[in-house]
Amino acid sequence: MEKIRFYAEDQPEDVIIVGAGFAGAVCARRLAEKGRRVLVLERRDHIGGNAYDTMDASGVLVHVYGPHIYHTNDEGVHAFLSRFTDWYDYSHEVVAKIGDREMPVPFNLHSLRMMFPEDAARLEEKLVAAFGRGTKVPILELRGTGDPDLEKIADYVYENVFLHYTMKQWGKRPEEIDPATTGRVPVSVSEDDRYFTDTFQGMPKEGYTRLFERMLDHKNIRLLLGVDGTQILERMGDKTVIYTGPIDELFGECYGALAYRSLDFVFETHATDSYQSHAVINYTVSEDYTRITEFKKLTGQKVPGVTSIIKEYPRPYTDPATQIPYYAIINDENLKQYGRYVALAQKYPGLHLLGRLAEYKYYNMDAITRRALDLADEIG
Ligand code: FAD
Ligand code: UDP
Repeated sequence: MEKIRFYAEDQPEDVIIVGAGFAGAVCARRLAEKGRRVLVLERRDHIGGNAYDTMDASGVLVHVYGPHIYHTNDEGVHAFLSRFTDWYDYSHEVVAKIGDREMPVPFNLHSLRMMFPEDAARLEEKLVAAFGRGTKVPILELRGTGDPDLEKIADYVYENVFLHYTMKQWGKRPEEIDPATTGRVPVSVSEDDRYFTDTFQGMPKEGYTRLFERMLDHKNIRLLLGVDGTQILERMGDKTVIYTGPIDELFGECYGALAYRSLDFVFETHATDSYQSHAVINYTVSEDYTRITEFKKLTGQKVPGVTSIIKEYPRPYTDPATQIPYYAIINDENLKQYGRYVALAQKYPGLHLLGRLAEYKYYNMDAITRRALDLADEIG
Protein backbone atom coordinates (compact mmCIF):
# COMPACT_ATOMS: atom_id res chain seq x y z
CA MET A 1 0.00 0.00 0.00
CA GLU A 2 1.18 3.47 -0.83
CA LYS A 3 1.91 5.46 2.28
CA ILE A 4 0.16 8.82 2.35
CA ARG A 5 2.01 11.68 4.00
CA PHE A 6 -0.32 12.44 6.79
CA TYR A 7 0.42 15.07 9.37
CA ALA A 8 -1.47 15.06 12.63
CA GLU A 9 -1.00 18.80 13.14
CA ASP A 10 -2.90 19.52 9.88
CA GLN A 11 -6.04 17.71 11.05
CA PRO A 12 -8.99 19.47 12.73
CA GLU A 13 -9.28 16.74 15.39
CA ASP A 14 -7.20 16.95 18.57
CA VAL A 15 -6.97 13.17 19.00
CA ILE A 16 -5.56 10.88 16.30
CA ILE A 17 -5.92 7.12 16.76
CA VAL A 18 -3.91 4.75 14.60
CA GLY A 19 -5.75 1.43 14.12
CA ALA A 20 -9.43 0.48 14.20
CA GLY A 21 -9.27 -2.82 16.09
CA PHE A 22 -10.66 -3.23 19.61
CA ALA A 23 -7.97 -0.97 21.09
CA GLY A 24 -8.48 1.92 18.68
CA ALA A 25 -12.23 1.70 18.23
CA VAL A 26 -13.09 1.40 21.92
CA CYS A 27 -10.81 4.29 22.83
CA ALA A 28 -12.24 6.38 19.98
CA ARG A 29 -15.81 5.87 21.12
CA ARG A 30 -15.09 6.61 24.76
CA LEU A 31 -13.20 9.80 23.93
CA ALA A 32 -15.88 10.88 21.44
CA GLU A 33 -18.50 10.51 24.14
CA LYS A 34 -16.42 12.76 26.38
CA GLY A 35 -16.67 15.41 23.70
CA ARG A 36 -13.25 14.93 22.13
CA ARG A 37 -13.04 15.03 18.33
CA VAL A 38 -11.27 11.91 17.15
CA LEU A 39 -9.71 10.91 13.84
CA VAL A 40 -9.16 7.15 13.35
CA LEU A 41 -6.66 5.98 10.72
CA GLU A 42 -6.81 2.35 9.61
CA ARG A 43 -4.48 0.99 6.98
CA ARG A 44 -6.62 -2.00 6.07
CA ASP A 45 -9.75 -1.52 3.98
CA HIS A 46 -11.95 -2.54 6.89
CA ILE A 47 -12.52 -1.92 10.59
CA GLY A 48 -12.43 -4.46 13.43
CA GLY A 49 -8.72 -5.36 13.42
CA ASN A 50 -8.24 -9.09 13.80
CA ALA A 51 -11.82 -9.52 15.01
CA TYR A 52 -13.13 -8.58 11.54
CA ASP A 53 -15.76 -10.96 10.16
CA THR A 54 -17.57 -11.09 6.83
CA MET A 55 -19.77 -13.39 4.73
CA ASP A 56 -17.86 -15.82 2.53
CA ALA A 57 -19.01 -16.83 -1.00
CA SER A 58 -21.43 -19.39 0.49
CA GLY A 59 -23.08 -16.87 2.77
CA VAL A 60 -21.39 -18.19 5.94
CA LEU A 61 -20.13 -15.56 8.40
CA VAL A 62 -16.40 -16.23 8.84
CA HIS A 63 -13.66 -14.67 10.99
CA VAL A 64 -11.02 -13.64 8.48
CA TYR A 65 -8.13 -13.50 10.99
CA GLY A 66 -8.99 -16.60 13.01
CA PRO A 67 -11.83 -17.59 15.33
CA HIS A 68 -12.76 -15.07 18.03
CA ILE A 69 -14.89 -16.10 21.01
CA TYR A 70 -16.01 -13.40 23.39
CA HIS A 71 -15.82 -14.06 27.13
CA THR A 72 -15.35 -11.82 30.15
CA ASN A 73 -15.77 -11.40 33.89
CA ASP A 74 -15.59 -7.63 33.57
CA GLU A 75 -19.08 -6.21 33.99
CA GLY A 76 -18.06 -2.74 32.83
CA VAL A 77 -16.59 -4.10 29.61
CA HIS A 78 -19.64 -6.24 29.01
CA ALA A 79 -22.01 -3.34 29.60
CA PHE A 80 -20.00 -1.13 27.24
CA LEU A 81 -19.85 -3.65 24.37
CA SER A 82 -23.50 -4.62 24.85
CA ARG A 83 -24.48 -1.11 23.76
CA PHE A 84 -23.34 -2.03 20.25
CA THR A 85 -24.60 -5.59 19.92
CA ASP A 86 -26.99 -8.22 21.21
CA TRP A 87 -25.41 -11.56 22.01
CA TYR A 88 -25.93 -15.07 20.72
CA ASP A 89 -25.81 -17.22 23.83
CA TYR A 90 -22.86 -19.52 23.22
CA SER A 91 -20.70 -21.46 25.67
CA HIS A 92 -17.46 -22.53 24.06
CA GLU A 93 -16.49 -26.20 24.33
CA VAL A 94 -13.42 -27.73 22.72
CA VAL A 95 -12.37 -31.33 22.24
CA ALA A 96 -8.99 -32.78 21.35
CA LYS A 97 -8.95 -35.38 18.62
CA ILE A 98 -6.82 -38.24 19.89
CA GLY A 99 -7.03 -41.22 17.54
CA ASP A 100 -10.74 -41.62 16.93
CA ARG A 101 -11.67 -40.21 20.34
CA GLU A 102 -12.73 -36.68 21.20
CA MET A 103 -11.54 -35.70 24.65
CA PRO A 104 -12.72 -32.53 26.45
CA VAL A 105 -10.10 -29.73 26.66
CA PRO A 106 -9.12 -28.29 29.08
CA PHE A 107 -8.41 -31.77 30.46
CA ASN A 108 -11.01 -32.31 33.21
CA LEU A 109 -12.64 -35.10 35.20
CA HIS A 110 -14.63 -36.22 32.14
CA SER A 111 -11.36 -36.45 30.19
CA LEU A 112 -9.81 -38.42 33.05
CA ARG A 113 -12.66 -40.94 33.05
CA MET A 114 -12.50 -41.25 29.27
CA MET A 115 -8.77 -41.84 29.11
CA PHE A 116 -8.21 -43.81 32.34
CA PRO A 117 -11.37 -45.94 32.58
CA GLU A 118 -9.67 -48.59 34.79
CA ASP A 119 -8.49 -46.43 37.71
CA ALA A 120 -10.35 -43.15 37.13
CA ALA A 121 -12.01 -43.17 40.56
CA ARG A 122 -8.73 -43.52 42.42
CA LEU A 123 -6.93 -40.95 40.28
CA GLU A 124 -9.79 -38.51 40.68
CA GLU A 125 -9.63 -38.87 44.46
CA LYS A 126 -5.90 -38.15 44.35
CA LEU A 127 -6.40 -35.06 42.19
CA VAL A 128 -9.15 -33.71 44.40
CA ALA A 129 -7.13 -34.40 47.57
CA ALA A 130 -4.08 -32.62 46.13
CA PHE A 131 -5.73 -29.55 44.62
CA GLY A 132 -9.40 -29.43 45.68
CA ARG A 133 -12.55 -29.85 43.61
CA GLY A 134 -13.22 -26.97 41.24
CA THR A 135 -9.59 -25.84 41.03
CA LYS A 136 -7.56 -25.21 37.89
CA VAL A 137 -3.99 -26.46 37.76
CA PRO A 138 -1.47 -25.33 35.14
CA ILE A 139 0.17 -28.33 33.49
CA LEU A 140 3.65 -27.19 34.54
CA GLU A 141 2.48 -27.23 38.15
CA LEU A 142 0.85 -30.65 37.84
CA ARG A 143 4.18 -32.01 36.66
CA GLY A 144 6.73 -32.49 39.38
CA THR A 145 4.47 -33.15 42.39
CA GLY A 146 6.45 -36.34 43.06
CA ASP A 147 3.29 -38.42 43.48
CA PRO A 148 3.37 -41.33 40.98
CA ASP A 149 -0.41 -41.20 40.32
CA LEU A 150 -0.43 -37.46 39.73
CA GLU A 151 2.68 -37.80 37.59
CA LYS A 152 0.86 -40.41 35.52
CA ILE A 153 -1.95 -37.94 34.81
CA ALA A 154 0.51 -35.10 34.26
CA ASP A 155 2.58 -37.13 31.80
CA TYR A 156 -0.51 -38.10 29.87
CA VAL A 157 -1.80 -34.54 29.64
CA TYR A 158 1.62 -33.13 28.86
CA GLU A 159 2.16 -35.59 26.02
CA ASN A 160 -1.37 -35.70 24.59
CA VAL A 161 -2.61 -32.14 25.10
CA PHE A 162 0.37 -29.81 25.32
CA LEU A 163 3.61 -31.11 23.83
CA HIS A 164 2.79 -31.53 20.14
CA TYR A 165 0.25 -28.70 19.99
CA THR A 166 2.72 -26.30 21.60
CA MET A 167 5.53 -27.49 19.31
CA LYS A 168 3.27 -26.69 16.35
CA GLN A 169 2.04 -23.39 17.76
CA TRP A 170 5.34 -22.01 19.03
CA GLY A 171 8.08 -24.27 17.62
CA LYS A 172 9.10 -24.79 21.26
CA ARG A 173 8.32 -27.19 24.12
CA PRO A 174 5.79 -26.12 26.80
CA GLU A 175 8.51 -25.50 29.40
CA GLU A 176 10.38 -23.22 26.97
CA ILE A 177 7.55 -20.70 26.49
CA ASP A 178 6.01 -18.13 28.83
CA PRO A 179 4.23 -20.18 31.55
CA ALA A 180 1.25 -17.80 31.34
CA THR A 181 0.57 -19.15 27.84
CA THR A 182 0.02 -22.80 28.73
CA GLY A 183 -1.55 -21.52 31.95
CA ARG A 184 -4.43 -20.24 29.81
CA VAL A 185 -5.61 -23.85 29.47
CA PRO A 186 -5.14 -25.39 32.95
CA VAL A 187 -6.18 -28.89 33.98
CA SER A 188 -9.62 -28.49 35.51
CA VAL A 189 -10.53 -30.53 38.60
CA SER A 190 -14.22 -30.39 37.69
CA GLU A 191 -16.84 -31.77 35.33
CA ASP A 192 -17.23 -28.41 33.58
CA ASP A 193 -16.57 -29.00 29.85
CA ARG A 194 -16.50 -25.29 28.96
CA TYR A 195 -13.26 -23.84 27.57
CA PHE A 196 -13.85 -20.57 29.43
CA THR A 197 -15.57 -20.23 32.78
CA ASP A 198 -16.25 -16.47 32.60
CA THR A 199 -19.60 -15.07 33.73
CA PHE A 200 -20.39 -13.61 30.32
CA GLN A 201 -19.73 -15.48 27.12
CA GLY A 202 -21.29 -15.43 23.71
CA MET A 203 -20.95 -14.13 20.20
CA PRO A 204 -22.12 -10.77 18.78
CA LYS A 205 -25.44 -11.60 17.15
CA GLU A 206 -24.76 -9.83 13.86
CA GLY A 207 -21.00 -10.34 14.01
CA TYR A 208 -18.01 -8.31 15.19
CA THR A 209 -17.88 -6.02 12.17
CA ARG A 210 -21.42 -4.81 12.82
CA LEU A 211 -20.47 -4.18 16.45
CA PHE A 212 -17.54 -2.04 15.28
CA GLU A 213 -19.69 -0.17 12.76
CA ARG A 214 -22.02 0.89 15.54
CA MET A 215 -19.17 1.71 17.92
CA LEU A 216 -17.49 4.01 15.40
CA ASP A 217 -20.74 5.65 14.32
CA HIS A 218 -20.52 8.86 16.35
CA LYS A 219 -20.59 12.50 15.30
CA ASN A 220 -17.20 13.15 16.92
CA ILE A 221 -15.44 10.29 15.10
CA ARG A 222 -14.00 10.53 11.59
CA LEU A 223 -12.68 7.27 10.14
CA LEU A 224 -10.20 7.01 7.26
CA LEU A 225 -9.63 3.53 5.82
CA GLY A 226 -6.55 2.65 3.76
CA VAL A 227 -4.37 5.21 5.54
CA ASP A 228 -1.12 4.12 7.17
CA GLY A 229 -0.21 6.05 10.32
CA THR A 230 3.35 4.78 10.77
CA GLN A 231 4.77 8.28 10.25
CA ILE A 232 2.32 9.88 12.69
CA LEU A 233 5.10 11.19 14.96
CA GLU A 234 6.41 13.51 12.23
CA ARG A 235 4.75 16.85 12.81
CA MET A 236 2.27 15.62 15.42
CA GLY A 237 2.36 19.05 17.08
CA ASP A 238 0.53 19.09 20.40
CA LYS A 239 -2.02 16.45 19.35
CA THR A 240 -2.85 13.40 21.39
CA VAL A 241 -1.85 10.31 19.41
CA ILE A 242 -3.00 6.82 20.37
CA TYR A 243 -1.01 4.29 18.41
CA THR A 244 -2.23 0.67 18.26
CA GLY A 245 0.07 -0.69 15.53
CA PRO A 246 3.43 -2.48 15.89
CA ILE A 247 5.74 -0.38 18.04
CA ASP A 248 8.90 -1.46 16.19
CA GLU A 249 7.43 -0.20 12.89
CA LEU A 250 6.65 3.16 14.49
CA PHE A 251 10.36 3.66 15.12
CA GLY A 252 11.62 2.21 11.83
CA GLU A 253 12.71 -1.01 13.58
CA CYS A 254 15.74 0.94 14.85
CA TYR A 255 16.36 -1.70 17.54
CA GLY A 256 15.48 -4.59 15.23
CA ALA A 257 12.17 -6.26 14.46
CA LEU A 258 10.28 -7.66 17.45
CA ALA A 259 9.68 -11.42 17.32
CA TYR A 260 6.22 -12.75 16.56
CA ARG A 261 4.55 -16.00 15.63
CA SER A 262 2.26 -15.94 12.62
CA LEU A 263 -0.45 -18.23 11.26
CA ASP A 264 -1.52 -19.38 7.83
CA PHE A 265 -5.26 -19.84 7.60
CA VAL A 266 -6.84 -22.29 5.19
CA PHE A 267 -10.58 -21.83 4.65
CA GLU A 268 -12.73 -24.62 3.23
CA THR A 269 -16.42 -24.81 2.42
CA HIS A 270 -18.19 -28.18 2.48
CA ALA A 271 -21.56 -29.17 1.06
CA THR A 272 -22.93 -30.52 4.31
CA ASP A 273 -24.98 -29.16 7.21
CA SER A 274 -22.36 -30.07 9.78
CA TYR A 275 -18.62 -30.78 9.45
CA GLN A 276 -17.59 -31.75 12.97
CA SER A 277 -18.98 -32.38 16.45
CA HIS A 278 -17.84 -29.13 18.10
CA ALA A 279 -17.14 -25.58 16.97
CA VAL A 280 -13.44 -26.14 17.63
CA ILE A 281 -11.48 -29.39 17.52
CA ASN A 282 -7.85 -29.24 18.63
CA TYR A 283 -5.39 -31.60 16.95
CA THR A 284 -3.12 -32.16 19.90
CA VAL A 285 -1.17 -35.18 18.67
CA SER A 286 -1.55 -35.31 14.88
CA GLU A 287 -1.74 -33.07 11.77
CA ASP A 288 0.26 -29.94 10.91
CA TYR A 289 -2.57 -27.60 11.81
CA THR A 290 -3.43 -26.92 15.45
CA ARG A 291 -7.19 -26.70 15.22
CA ILE A 292 -10.24 -26.68 12.97
CA THR A 293 -13.07 -24.26 13.64
CA GLU A 294 -16.50 -24.63 12.10
CA PHE A 295 -17.97 -21.12 12.02
CA LYS A 296 -21.69 -21.92 12.03
CA LYS A 297 -21.25 -23.77 15.32
CA LEU A 298 -19.68 -20.65 16.85
CA THR A 299 -22.12 -18.10 15.56
CA GLY A 300 -25.32 -20.15 15.52
CA GLN A 301 -25.93 -19.03 11.93
CA LYS A 302 -28.40 -21.24 10.05
CA VAL A 303 -27.29 -21.94 6.47
CA PRO A 304 -28.64 -25.30 5.28
CA GLY A 305 -26.53 -27.68 3.18
CA VAL A 306 -23.24 -25.80 3.49
CA THR A 307 -20.65 -25.09 6.16
CA SER A 308 -17.27 -23.31 6.29
CA ILE A 309 -14.24 -24.21 8.35
CA ILE A 310 -10.78 -22.80 9.03
CA LYS A 311 -7.56 -24.69 9.68
CA GLU A 312 -4.72 -22.89 11.50
CA TYR A 313 -1.09 -23.55 10.55
CA PRO A 314 1.38 -21.73 12.82
CA ARG A 315 4.44 -20.25 11.12
CA PRO A 316 7.53 -18.23 12.03
CA TYR A 317 6.92 -14.54 11.32
CA THR A 318 9.52 -13.51 8.76
CA ASP A 319 7.87 -11.23 6.20
CA PRO A 320 5.75 -8.19 7.21
CA ALA A 321 4.74 -7.73 3.54
CA THR A 322 2.84 -11.03 3.37
CA GLN A 323 2.34 -12.11 6.98
CA ILE A 324 0.51 -10.81 10.01
CA PRO A 325 2.22 -10.68 13.42
CA TYR A 326 -0.34 -12.58 15.50
CA TYR A 327 1.36 -13.62 18.72
CA ALA A 328 4.11 -11.72 20.55
CA ILE A 329 6.81 -14.14 21.65
CA ILE A 330 7.13 -13.22 25.29
CA ASN A 331 10.53 -13.84 26.85
CA ASP A 332 13.09 -11.78 28.78
CA GLU A 333 15.18 -10.88 25.75
CA ASN A 334 12.19 -9.77 23.64
CA LEU A 335 10.72 -7.78 26.53
CA LYS A 336 14.05 -6.00 26.93
CA GLN A 337 14.05 -5.08 23.24
CA TYR A 338 10.44 -3.92 23.59
CA GLY A 339 11.47 -1.82 26.60
CA ARG A 340 13.96 0.11 24.44
CA TYR A 341 11.12 1.09 22.10
CA VAL A 342 8.98 2.16 25.05
CA ALA A 343 11.81 4.41 26.22
CA LEU A 344 11.76 6.08 22.78
CA ALA A 345 8.00 6.48 22.90
CA GLN A 346 8.24 8.22 26.27
CA LYS A 347 10.02 11.11 24.55
CA TYR A 348 6.68 12.07 22.98
CA PRO A 349 4.39 13.34 25.77
CA GLY A 350 1.26 13.20 23.56
CA LEU A 351 1.86 9.62 22.43
CA HIS A 352 0.06 6.66 24.02
CA LEU A 353 0.74 3.02 23.17
CA LEU A 354 -2.29 0.79 23.24
CA GLY A 355 -3.14 -2.74 22.11
CA ARG A 356 -1.53 -6.09 21.44
CA LEU A 357 0.95 -4.73 18.87
CA ALA A 358 1.92 -1.45 20.49
CA GLU A 359 2.19 -3.01 23.96
CA TYR A 360 3.69 -6.28 22.68
CA LYS A 361 1.34 -8.29 24.79
CA TYR A 362 -1.26 -11.03 24.53
CA TYR A 363 -4.60 -9.35 25.14
CA ASN A 364 -7.97 -11.05 24.96
CA MET A 365 -10.69 -8.85 23.49
CA ASP A 366 -12.19 -8.05 26.88
CA ALA A 367 -8.82 -7.18 28.41
CA ILE A 368 -7.92 -4.74 25.63
CA THR A 369 -11.40 -3.22 25.84
CA ARG A 370 -10.82 -2.59 29.56
CA ARG A 371 -7.42 -1.08 28.91
CA ALA A 372 -8.78 1.15 26.12
CA LEU A 373 -11.62 2.42 28.32
CA ASP A 374 -9.20 3.15 31.17
CA LEU A 375 -6.75 4.97 28.90
CA ALA A 376 -9.55 7.10 27.46
CA ASP A 377 -10.66 7.95 31.01
CA GLU A 378 -7.10 8.91 31.93
CA ILE A 379 -6.75 11.13 28.86
CA GLY A 380 -10.16 12.63 29.61
P1 FAD B 1 -5.69 -5.62 16.25
O1 FAD B 1 -7.00 -6.35 16.25
O2 FAD B 1 -4.54 -6.29 15.60
O3 FAD B 1 -5.96 -4.20 15.57
C1 FAD B 1 -4.92 -3.32 15.22
C2 FAD B 1 -5.38 -2.53 14.01
O4 FAD B 1 -4.46 -1.48 13.76
C3 FAD B 1 -5.44 -3.37 12.74
O5 FAD B 1 -6.68 -3.16 12.10
C4 FAD B 1 -4.29 -2.85 11.92
O6 FAD B 1 -4.52 -2.91 10.52
C5 FAD B 1 -4.21 -1.41 12.38
N1 FAD B 1 -2.88 -0.83 12.18
C6 FAD B 1 -1.70 -1.32 12.62
N2 FAD B 1 -0.71 -0.51 12.28
C7 FAD B 1 -1.26 0.53 11.61
C8 FAD B 1 -0.73 1.71 11.00
N3 FAD B 1 0.58 1.97 11.01
N4 FAD B 1 -1.59 2.56 10.40
C9 FAD B 1 -2.93 2.30 10.38
N5 FAD B 1 -3.47 1.20 10.94
C10 FAD B 1 -2.65 0.33 11.55
N6 FAD B 1 -9.38 -12.77 21.97
C11 FAD B 1 -10.47 -13.20 22.63
O7 FAD B 1 -10.93 -12.53 23.57
N7 FAD B 1 -11.11 -14.36 22.27
C12 FAD B 1 -10.67 -15.14 21.24
O8 FAD B 1 -11.25 -16.19 20.93
C13 FAD B 1 -9.51 -14.72 20.53
N8 FAD B 1 -9.06 -15.44 19.51
C14 FAD B 1 -7.93 -15.06 18.85
C15 FAD B 1 -7.46 -15.87 17.82
C16 FAD B 1 -6.31 -15.53 17.15
C17 FAD B 1 -5.81 -16.40 16.04
C18 FAD B 1 -5.59 -14.36 17.54
C19 FAD B 1 -4.30 -14.00 16.86
C20 FAD B 1 -6.06 -13.54 18.55
C21 FAD B 1 -7.25 -13.88 19.23
N9 FAD B 1 -7.77 -13.08 20.24
C22 FAD B 1 -8.88 -13.51 20.93
C23 FAD B 1 -7.14 -11.78 20.62
C24 FAD B 1 -7.75 -10.60 19.84
O9 FAD B 1 -7.47 -10.76 18.46
C25 FAD B 1 -7.14 -9.29 20.38
O10 FAD B 1 -7.55 -9.09 21.71
C26 FAD B 1 -7.54 -8.04 19.60
O11 FAD B 1 -7.39 -8.22 18.22
C27 FAD B 1 -6.66 -6.88 20.06
O12 FAD B 1 -7.08 -5.71 19.40
P2 FAD B 1 -6.01 -4.60 18.96
O13 FAD B 1 -6.80 -3.45 18.53
O14 FAD B 1 -4.98 -4.44 20.01
O15 FAD B 1 -5.22 -5.26 17.72
N1 UDP C 1 -2.41 -25.48 24.31
C1 UDP C 1 -2.04 -26.78 24.02
N2 UDP C 1 -3.00 -27.67 23.66
C2 UDP C 1 -4.30 -27.33 23.54
C3 UDP C 1 -4.67 -26.00 23.82
C4 UDP C 1 -3.70 -25.08 24.20
O1 UDP C 1 -0.86 -27.11 24.09
O2 UDP C 1 -5.13 -28.19 23.20
C5 UDP C 1 -1.35 -24.52 24.73
C6 UDP C 1 -0.60 -23.91 23.54
O3 UDP C 1 0.73 -23.67 23.92
C7 UDP C 1 -1.36 -22.62 23.32
C8 UDP C 1 -1.68 -22.20 24.76
O4 UDP C 1 -1.93 -23.45 25.44
O5 UDP C 1 -0.58 -21.65 22.65
C9 UDP C 1 -2.86 -21.26 24.91
O6 UDP C 1 -4.01 -21.83 24.31
P1 UDP C 1 -5.22 -20.93 23.82
O7 UDP C 1 -6.32 -21.84 23.39
O8 UDP C 1 -5.51 -19.92 24.85
O9 UDP C 1 -4.56 -20.27 22.53
P2 UDP C 1 -5.11 -19.16 21.54
O10 UDP C 1 -6.59 -19.35 21.43
O11 UDP C 1 -4.73 -17.88 22.15
O12 UDP C 1 -4.40 -19.47 20.28
